[in-house]
Amino acid sequence: MGGTFDPIHYGHLVAAEEARTNFDLSKVIFIPAGNPPHKKDYPVTDAEHRYIMTALAVNSNPFFEVSRVEIDREGYTYTVDTLKWFKEKYKDAVEIFFISGADAILDILTWKKVEEVMNYCTFIAATRPGYTSEQLERKVKEVKEIYGKDIFVLKVTGMAISSTEIRKKVKNGQSIKYLVPEAVEYYILKNNLYR
Ligand code: ATP
Ligand code: MG
Repeated sequence: MGGTFDPIHYGHLVAAEEARTNFDLSKVIFIPAGNPPHKKDYPVTDAEHRYIMTALAVNSNPFFEVSRVEIDREGYTYTVDTLKWFKEKYKDAVEIFFISGADAILDILTWKKVEEVMNYCTFIAATRPGYTSEQLERKVKEVKEIYGKDIFVLKVTGMAISSTEIRKKVKNGQSIKYLVPEAVEYYILKNNLYR
């Protein structure tokens, strides 16, 4: 599961856990984005902070891991390079799924080398409050028509949480309790993030 994770929240964690259990995945690897090209207009928090928060958040789940592969890469980071890296590492010994929220799937056709991406993995599209199933199904159909690839839609417990909203709350001095794991909440306060 890729993401900026700025910061990681329960929406990410629930989607990942429900994907794991529904698809019987042996583990979920969270991959904080290094220097994501699509977010270059917004000052993304230092990768080390995002990595640490992700590590703190996944610590309590034995099936969850966090990877440094993108944050240790120079320049813009693209999913295609990350998946290629995992594919070369594991060869055909594992089947790779990429867990994405509805919003990410909706703009999947703009991704760099999307066809190559879809050759490396199978997408699991997690529903997300604010995005309709119709929108998502339409995109899934479009991808199938263009590339002949299936995307699995997974209805996950709706968590109307976004990192943007959390950053705003912190900035305004509002509580983010129960939106992010406690360890992440404390890390944000201790390091004065999003102020
Ligand atoms: P931001 O507001 O900064 O864009 P975000 O909450 O969208 O943050 P990202 O790091 O951009 O989080 O998302 C990483 C992945 O997790 C994306 O595929 C996104 O669609 C998915 N995701 C994020 N929040 C949710 C949620 N509440 N429910 C389901 N999927 C989610
Ligand atoms: Mg987002």
